[in-house]
Amino acid sequence: SVKAGTREGYCFYDEGIRLQLRAEKAIEHDMEAALRKHEFIVYYQPKVSPESDRITCSEALVRWRKPDGQMIQPGQFIPVFEKNHSIPLLDRYVFESVCIWLRRMLDEGKPALPVSVNVSCLQFYSSDFVKTYREIRDRYRIPRGLLEIEFTETILFDDWHVMNRTVKQLKDAGFICSIDDFGKGYSSLSTVKNLDIDVLKLDAVFFQDTGTLEKDRQLVAGIIHMVRQLGITTVAEGIETWEQVEFLRGIRCDLIQGYVYYKPMPQEEYEALLINESGEYGRDAGVRQPEG
Ligand code: C2E
Ligand code: MG
Ligand code: MG
Ligand code: MG
Repeated sequence: SVKAGTREGYCFYDEGIRLQLRAEKAIEHDMEAALRKHEFIVYYQPKVSPESDRITCSEALVRWRKPDGQMIQPGQFIPVFEKNHSIPLLDRYVFESVCIWLRRMLDEGKPALPVSVNVSCLQFYSSDFVKTYREIRDRYRIPRGLLEIEFTETILFDDWHVMNRTVKQLKDAGFICSIDDFGKGYSSLSTVKNLDIDVLKLDAVFFQDTGTLEKDRQLVAGIIHMVRQLGITTVAEGIETWEQVEFLRGIRCDLIQGYVYYKPMPQEEYEALLINESGEYGRDAGVRQPEG
């Protein structure tokens, strides 16, 4: 760890940093073994239309279940995998898991709604990214429009041409393209201007004060209105109160992803929910339920 540190020009006076680096090294080392042992599992969080209160699609979110049963949240390991550039391995694993599940749903005649997966935006610069994802998708014969790629701008894009080429290739291949965490980090209106994306996911930071501050309500309403005019689907993330839902419904935000409707849940639970919901079509299905 001292070697890595000196390479980057740091000095480790701080025992805390040293311990953290050691923990990161351990996580890195564990990843490939964990992949082989299927310790990574995919949770699904529904996205709901506030207009109908119905689930329209979901996001796949990875968790790490250690052999001792401990569940580790992505915030603890994704940044490490990003740092050492091993994240594409995990992203592909999650993507393939989703394809396998969708294939089974289709085979069993169960409701198969679109699923989005997260990919590190580093992958957008790798030439075989689209090809790899297309091959996996084709292997499981997943129809166009059932898979969505979410990417977060964690680096400042300067080459819109390269980015747009990737977005175009993804869309040509039948993937839906989304910008995640809009409003947080580097993403800005130039992203919307420069990239031909399908979906914009507004980060929770946007909604924190929409319950109280008129200025924030106006700002969010303006952004959602403008983005909709461009034909882009809007998703509000991190929504926790019915007051927020009411507001978002009023300004015609397309979809809501938040604890107010559902938390991320294991695949079996989401599958049961979808089957239950599809059986209740035509009735006012109470989709709200606490999740564990
Ligand atoms: P994200 O892609 O923005 O996913 C949304 C995160 O917000 C999820 O956290 C979700 O559980 C959380 N969330 C949703 N609604 C609420 C709410 O109402 N309140 C609060 N407090 N949180 C809410 P999670 O599952 O911990 O994932 C964190 C991040 O880790 C994700 O943010 C994503 O950037 C990354 N991630 C997760 N799975 C993958 C993956 O397979 N590949 C990559 N590259 N990144 C992933
Ligand atoms: Mg996401
Ligand atoms: Mg993200
Ligand atoms: Mg997000």
